[in-house]
Amino acid sequence: MIFPANSEHPRHTQEQKNGALFEEAQSLFPGGVNSPVRAFRRVGGTPRFFESARGPWLHSADGRRYLDFNMSWGCLLHGHAWGPVVAALRRQAGRGTSFGAPTRQENRLGSIIRDRVPGLERLRFVSSGTEAVMSALRVARAATGRNLVVKFDGCYHGHSDCLLVAAGSGLAEASSPDSAGILKEAASSTISLPYNDSAAFAAFMETRGQLVAAVLVEPVAANMGLVPPIAGFLEGLRAACTRHGALLVFDEVITGFRLAPGGAQEAFGIRADIVCFGKIMGGGLPAAAFGGRSDLMNLLAPAGPVYQAGTLSGNPLAMVAGAAALEGAADQRFYAGLEDRAAGFEAQLAGSARAAGFHFVRVGSMFCLFATAGGAPPRNWQDVVACDSGKFARLFHAALNRGVYLSPSPFETCFVSAAHSARQLARAARALAQAMEASL
Ligand SMILES: *Cc1c(COP(=O)(O)O)cnc(C)c1O
Repeated sequence: MIFPANSEHPRHTQEQKNGALFEEAQSLFPGGVNSPVRAFRRVGGTPRFFESARGPWLHSADGRRYLDFNMSWGCLLHGHAWGPVVAALRRQAGRGTSFGAPTRQENRLGSIIRDRVPGLERLRFVSSGTEAVMSALRVARAATGRNLVVKFDGCYHGHSDCLLVAAGSGLAEASSPDSAGILKEAASSTISLPYNDSAAFAAFMETRGQLVAAVLVEPVAANMGLVPPIAGFLEGLRAACTRHGALLVFDEVITGFRLAPGGAQEAFGIRADIVCFGKIMGGGLPAAAFGGRSDLMNLLAPAGPVYQAGTLSGNPLAMVAGAAALEGAADQRFYAGLEDRAAGFEAQLAGSARAAGFHFVRVGSMFCLFATAGGAPPRNWQDVVACDSGKFARLFHAALNRGVYLSPSPFETCFVSAAHSARQLARAARALAQAMEASL
């Protein structure tokens, strides 16, 4: 084992303990979890229960430790229990955890975000990425007086009714709408087109562009494994939206504050009309936001006619955690350091991945291992579902046995945090190379 377990207990009693916890969870929660992909259904086996975490390490209830590449689905840019975030939370907790009234802490995080994000003049805080995207579309429909929303197959934008159409991740393999309990009518004004297919998009906009309120996209698709935009794809979206009077909405819930201080807009040099954030900006607490030009954002109540609200929106604990996380990633140097380390990891791993029939795909500090049968890495959802999910499951468990915790689904991205040292990454690369060989 590359990362030895730090426990004296024999392995079988450890597994019994974890199994007992999951059994109890199954008697409490549907499927034993409070968010589906945690249940390990895509990789099989029993999900691990974790007791504590620090830096890049997860410590399980059964006394093992794992080098974490899930990082709470990308929330933890600086790793677990990062000093400045913990200190900010301690300070704030003693001063009150929720006021239901405006706070200085909201102003502070709001200013940090506005200063970094291109074109963002006003924003609103919410508590989840789902809410951010749902509310952004409400604004887009109000601003344009139009109904249709265009999204792309395999992009996930949270679980609001009208967006559970071809939504990747936990929803993989279903058809539209992706979930029971959703009115056909709610999903019927959502059009899902193939990602990275500029021609299909242009053809759609030529005939129906004047009906489109918003074109919604993950600028780097990170909920169908990891699929970067091909050259010209995002530019084509921007040009068509401008031409047809539709709003371009970037869902930067994953890419925001990860690819660059100003997110994907800055990284790709493309300006969206509304941008949605989540994950990193809460520093590991529930916070999300959407924002854009003030003429659009001022449509929101109480300034305008679009209703939107939240009891815990702008929660002071989440605000101070988010501010600490973003202040720790204030400049290009931070991102260059993360890029260097992730690129070194790629260099150590890409060759053995190829030899074992995997594609290592990386964008900045995000990466993914696709079990492709040779050829090119996936460019869209169709390519992604053609990958060998059984082989990914074997890789996942072989890695887990070697103390490496990958995201537990072939449709999820993995994350390198600032807490992963070059040495830990080198050891993880060796462990993953062995795991890939073992999964052949
Ligand atoms: C995680 C995610 C969401 C949903 O955020 P929640 O906080 O889980 O509601 C939306 N869009 C993207 C791109 C995401 O990765």
